[in-house]
Amino acid sequence: MEKLKKIDWVNLLFLGLTPFAAGLAIYVHFTTEVWSYQLLTLFIVSYFLTGLAITAGYHRLFSHRSYKASWWVRFFYLVFGAGAFENSCLKWSADHRRHHQEVDTDNDPYNARKGFFYSHIGWVLIKEQSPGTVFPKDLLKDPLVRWQHKYYLLLAGLVGFALPTLVGFFLGAPIGGLAFGGLLRIVVVQHSTFFINSLAHMYGKSTYTDKNSAKDNLWLSFFTYGEGFHNFHHKFQIDYRNGPRWYHWDPTKWLIKTLSFFGQTDRLIKVPESDILKSKMLMEKKILLAKGLQTSRFDQFLKDKMPSLDGLQMKVEEAHLKFIDLKKEFKRVRNEIPLHGKEKLFQIQGNLKVARLEFKLAYMRWYTQRKYLLVTVS
Ligand SMILES: [Zn+2]
Ligand SMILES: [Zn+2]
Repeated sequence: MEKLKKIDWVNLLFLGLTPFAAGLAIYVHFTTEVWSYQLLTLFIVSYFLTGLAITAGYHRLFSHRSYKASWWVRFFYLVFGAGAFENSCLKWSADHRRHHQEVDTDNDPYNARKGFFYSHIGWVLIKEQSPGTVFPKDLLKDPLVRWQHKYYLLLAGLVGFALPTLVGFFLGAPIGGLAFGGLLRIVVVQHSTFFINSLAHMYGKSTYTDKNSAKDNLWLSFFTYGEGFHNFHHKFQIDYRNGPRWYHWDPTKWLIKTLSFFGQTDRLIKVPESDILKSKMLMEKKILLAKGLQTSRFDQFLKDKMPSLDGLQMKVEEAHLKFIDLKKEFKRVRNEIPLHGKEKLFQIQGNLKVARLEFKLAYMRWYTQRKYLLVTVS
């Protein structure tokens, strides 16, 4: 009886019934209306609009403040984010900030240490304990955020149900519109977000830190708009990217960057490349130590005139810093060509190529030594 009192029946019924309602609406559509491939387009477009409003908006903008956005971009995030049925931005961000601050503890709202079911969906089905959520002060200052919080349910109903039904109506299939652009899409987007709280804290690599359960998982990124690089995100939460390399699948990062070309987003925060590299190499060393390589073995290698991993790491960091500095100088001189002339630019370009090669060589030496040590300990 006590347990029943703890259940949030509204959330339980909504999350439990939407998959069935989606199935029923799809059945009614196929028996009473004509299928059109435009309904598939509606599903895909609404999947990206509402999902990206959560990841680029609710998550990276409002929860982490990793960049600034114009009022209409914020408006778009708040309106379409409501259509994902994941609560108001204020509540979502308050929970998420607590997740980062108290990760893997009882105060973490979706503590992954309590298992897959709890972190995925279980936590939403339990009523919040008093004193309840404290809304972040910086977000309360934004009138758009306050407006969305006040009219959240209305906006969610309009974007989540009314809009796709209307689009479907113009395509000659209002029930199809509701089924694919509304119900089915809501289920898929919700579970995409839930996967980040559950699977992204269970399966994958601890590339940059092992201080929490967050993992980097490329496969998950394909289903979560790029949020699968969760270990990077927990280590460098202020960075607007989750996948730091240009080729890392991260549509959210690409959207934010593209908007910046049109002046709609700015002050995109990136943590220094050298910090990222350092964290990665430190983690690799930890793995070696965990596999049984004693610190004394490093000294032994020194005695044998073998380069120590620490020494090589320092060389990588030095070469990397030199490369980054030259890159900055190259950009500066390029913008001031009338002042310096092209000759200076070519000279720096040459130095830059050498510095890049030196960095890559230093990294390769470190990498090979790491591999060698790995073989000797296993
Ligand atoms: Zn986060
Ligand atoms: Zn997390």
